[in-house]
Amino acid sequence: MLDCGIMFPDPDMPGVDLVLPDFSYLKENADRVVAVVLTHGHEDHTGGLAFLLRDLEVPIYGSALSLGLARNRIDEAGLSGRAEYVVVADNERRRIGPCDVEFIPVTHSVPSAFALAFHTPQGVILHSGDFKLDLEPVDGRRTDLARIGALASEHGIRLLLGDSTNAEEPGFTPSESTVGTTMRRVFLESSGRRIVVACFASHIHRVQQVVDAAIHSGRKVATLGRSMGKNVELAKRLGVLNVPDGVLVDIDDIDSLPDGQICVISTGSQGEPMSALSLMATGNNKRLQIEQGDVVVISAHPIPGNEWSVGRVIDELHRRGAEVIHSGSEKVHVSGHARQGELRTLLSVARPESFIPVHGEYRHMVHHASLARSMGVPADSVLLCEDGDAVRLDERGLHRDGSVPGGYLYVDGTVGDVGHGVLRDRKALAEEGVVMVVVTVDLHKGTLSGSPQIATKGWVHAPEAEALLDEAGKVVAHAVEAAMADGARDSEVLCRHARKALGKLVGDRTHRRPMIVPIVMVV
Ligand SMILES: [Zn+2]
Ligand SMILES: [Zn+2]
Repeated sequence: MLDCGIMFPDPDMPGVDLVLPDFSYLKENADRVVAVVLTHGHEDHTGGLAFLLRDLEVPIYGSALSLGLARNRIDEAGLSGRAEYVVVADNERRRIGPCDVEFIPVTHSVPSAFALAFHTPQGVILHSGDFKLDLEPVDGRRTDLARIGALASEHGIRLLLGDSTNAEEPGFTPSESTVGTTMRRVFLESSGRRIVVACFASHIHRVQQVVDAAIHSGRKVATLGRSMGKNVELAKRLGVLNVPDGVLVDIDDIDSLPDGQICVISTGSQGEPMSALSLMATGNNKRLQIEQGDVVVISAHPIPGNEWSVGRVIDELHRRGAEVIHSGSEKVHVSGHARQGELRTLLSVARPESFIPVHGEYRHMVHHASLARSMGVPADSVLLCEDGDAVRLDERGLHRDGSVPGGYLYVDGTVGDVGHGVLRDRKALAEEGVVMVVVTVDLHKGTLSGSPQIATKGWVHAPEAEALLDEAGKVVAHAVEAAMADGARDSEVLCRHARKALGKLVGDRTHRRPMIVPIVMVV
């Protein structure tokens, strides 16, 4: 199994913390799952392991850093005992059960990422992982195009699955090291002022360049945000991050330093409401208050859907008198994914016999598929697949082969999967409110005991709507009495009549469709 990620919820999934893939196919085939092999340590590739391991006990293969990052969630879930971690080195080739897997270095926005080559009886299947072709990476570890070329000429690559994230973008993604150049200049131009830089906690090369710019401008570095502290510690221990002794200081000790010697690296570059940066922007961070003259660098680009939250944080930071530098004003961020020029390069080096675009929105995969065809992959050997689609590679080539369950589970804290119905209800409640009516009936007499009680939240402002609520009570009473006069005695049936009558009145009078909750009590 290659990677096991999570998605983050869309704004139209109220109360959902994360979105998991449906594991039912894997559970049913548990005896056939020999291992999970990781391309890299991002949460959309490793975050689901903490849930998968509840049902399956499998070893996990990956680079030391990928495994270290993946363990964060697994340990938090108390499942570390159920996993065996197997560290693999760059270019290592491993026999894993019936599979023969080769781990090929690629550059991405987290160090130690791999493309995976599966040597199978049907030939080589290459999965690019998330990648870009950075020719000047911060750690000098480039995407191993030479090895991919050798695989293509020695064995031939029968199938390539390629990262489609930036398939709509022409040209080449700039090197990560260009961010370091901008960062150094920004740091020198901000002399005498405190600097706070927010970036992804797993982006160790970004952290490295911030640390280097800090040292270059005579500053000490403190981390803020739990995952930032944890990941910096992990990366230092693994030798992936190089911080000389005496540079790192505790965030609680920075007040003893002059402003011009302070650099804080923080989480929250996506405007997440409870993150260190958001709390700083609203003056609620106990560790650090943003003051007039501070410089805040947001070294990330908002993931689609997060633009609004990031915009609000930038606005609040201005309100506190900070100067804010972001990817819209300075080149303080580059993507970790390949653009069209790089995707074409990989296609021309790998020369795959067939191609499946992966990783991206549907439109990105459509663009990547047409790019592959333009690079000479035969049209009938390019398959555009969706979650759950099964494909088969055999002597005749690549073709579709049915599907397996591939839906989503919506995880809400400890409640677990909340399902589509609950989400639909939450949306209705959020957008339209709720009207509840309690009707007490005497089934023997076939009459109501007292008038119906109506309560509402989020529908109409109650004091102004007393007449409306009175009318609603009468309409429900009439409908339930009429139903009983027709012989209805079942409380479910009476509920249905109450709901229908109330729903119609609410719709007619307010042109709204709040959730209607009728309750019939029997005496
Ligand atoms: Zn990634
Ligand atoms: Zn990814």
